[in-house]
Amino acid sequence: MNVYEKMGLQRVVNASGRMTYLGVSTLPDEVAAAAVEGGQNYVVVAELIDKVGELISAHTGAEDSCVTCSASAGIAIAVAGLVTKGKRSALTALPDSTGLPNRVILQKGHSVDYGAPISIAIRLGGGVPAEVGTANLVFPEEIEEAIDENTACLFYCKSHHCVQKGMVSLEEMIDIAHRNGLPILVDAAAEEDMRKYVAMGADLVVYSGAKALEATTSGFITGRKELISWCKKQYQGIGRAMKVGKEQMVGLVAALDRYDSIDHEAQAAGNLKTVEWLNERINAIPGCRAVTVQDEAGRKIYRSKVTFDPVCGMSALEVDAKMREGNPSVHCRPNLLSLGAMLFDVRPLVPGDKELIVEKLRKVMEG
Ligand SMILES: *Cc1c(COP(=O)(O)O)cnc(C)c1O
Repeated sequence: MNVYEKMGLQRVVNASGRMTYLGVSTLPDEVAAAAVEGGQNYVVVAELIDKVGELISAHTGAEDSCVTCSASAGIAIAVAGLVTKGKRSALTALPDSTGLPNRVILQKGHSVDYGAPISIAIRLGGGVPAEVGTANLVFPEEIEEAIDENTACLFYCKSHHCVQKGMVSLEEMIDIAHRNGLPILVDAAAEEDMRKYVAMGADLVVYSGAKALEATTSGFITGRKELISWCKKQYQGIGRAMKVGKEQMVGLVAALDRYDSIDHEAQAAGNLKTVEWLNERINAIPGCRAVTVQDEAGRKIYRSKVTFDPVCGMSALEVDAKMREGNPSVHCRPNLLSLGAMLFDVRPLVPGDKELIVEKLRKVMEG
């Protein structure tokens, strides 16, 4: 029994992905050990924040970085930094930013909900979201024309949650921002490349710690030195409600070091093997047909895609509901359920999970 089962909660098999509602990811041993050691010792926290910022930057290639308790907090704190620009009277007035340039321009197709609306994270930092264009089409000149003297920054969300067609590209957004003397903030919460957006010229980039990095619950903002100093100051203001624990910071640093040393090719090959293991057994269950599919965004992520014979009388949505019921509760990746397919993402699985998936699916199919 794990600690959650001892509390009377069900065993959860996460075959969904880095989902906040299931706990995002599990801590690798070296990350957990670092977090424990960090938690059992004292440090001057302001000095730790500076040092961790320096260490994060070595992995992102940026001038400096500001550690946060999540990517959502990263968005709020980055916006707060860009709205207040290091001015004490402004930062202590937040979240009221009346009289300051506070408009945050983003494309309508980027105004997403990742479990909470992105617009709330912007507002928390004193920003006023200014959505431009329509949900499926935005022209570069609309972005340009939306800029006025009350604009704090441009905002770009890089995510599978966003509308992928008809949006202005990040290259163009960076160009528009800089031609107008404005910074651009990029939300790259779930992205795997820690250097790409800094290298492209984004002024501030936000990442989540527990997603690709499998760190302790955390996040960070990485980018230009002066802007980062404005972000760090928020810990004497709105950032206090988003306090980062010392153990979270130490865990994040350990996770970044580990991430750089991982053989990502070997990991993808291992995941593919697990997918094939699953497919072989799922194909032996009457009514199920499993195939291997690659991530729709072309990343080296392989998943098992299962469809159901109509004669078994259950839709993928119904099978999913039954998979989640009872103990263990098995959660698939839901993206294709309404189209009749169940996806199993093997990246988040812990030892013993793949067997539980097959067992549960067999039970559900046998009714
Ligand atoms: C997950 C996610 C966030 C929030 O990250 P947290 O670390 O959970 O706060 C923000 N933006 C996008 C695009 C995300 O996918």
